[in-house]
Amino acid sequence: MRLARPIVFGNWKMNGLRADGLALAGALAQRAVRLSGTLGIFPPFTILHAVAQRVCETGILVGGQDCHEKSFGAYTGSISAPMLVDAGAKAVILGHSERRHGLGETDALVRAKLLAARAAGLLVVLCVGETEEERLAGVHEERLWAQLDGSLPEGIGPEGLVVAYEPVWAIGTGRTPTSADIVATHAAVRRMLARRVVGGDAIPILYGGSVKPDNAAEIMACAGVDGVLVGGASLDAAAFWSIYQAGGGA
Ligand code: PEP
Repeated sequence: MRLARPIVFGNWKMNGLRADGLALAGALAQRAVRLSGTLGIFPPFTILHAVAQRVCETGILVGGQDCHEKSFGAYTGSISAPMLVDAGAKAVILGHSERRHGLGETDALVRAKLLAARAAGLLVVLCVGETEEERLAGVHEERLWAQLDGSLPEGIGPEGLVVAYEPVWAIGTGRTPTSADIVATHAAVRRMLARRVVGGDAIPILYGGSVKPDNAAEIMACAGVDGVLVGGASLDAAAFWSIYQAGGGA
């Protein structure tokens, strides 16, 4: 299934008690009567089911921010892909830099999670991105290739897969790459996907990192950008909706 453009996903991270989360979801639901693009929100696990219920009569897609690589078992504190589906999720973010760098997740672990998520029927938003040191050293493309190559299972098809290019140094910092750098890096990721996945041309590529209402139009006008993954600004319904509109969404 082809996702309508723009694709705008909001990663709420560890934010949202029940009342706040439902108010935010409700404010988005009011705006999202008939969506021309793809709008998705990724609340914390604790309110995922309630949020999914709140937006179920809209086209808003709801997803989890991570999943375990096993389906069930003695994995205290973990949430599996079938559990996400059971709670109403249609998608999951995997390999976010806050998990790769903050929690030491390896490409091999992300790959195992990706297999579990696809087996459960979830749309996977696979995050990759270079650190500032790697960008300054000019090795960002090698880094992105290593992450994609290591995180994508052998023989995987393009279905149910979205890649988010998120420079680590741009996440939550208010800094973004230049438009020229976004175009160049998205083109490089596009080539890598074509090389690594049969039919990889069909995989949407999102940009993520300090997307705000005032830079969203410029970022989403960049060649090769199919949409954006938004962190901080997705916690404000008006800001998130204006980002979606800046990409042409109605
Ligand atoms: C993110 O967490 O994926 C992200 C892009 O965050 P922010 O928009 O806050 O930089």
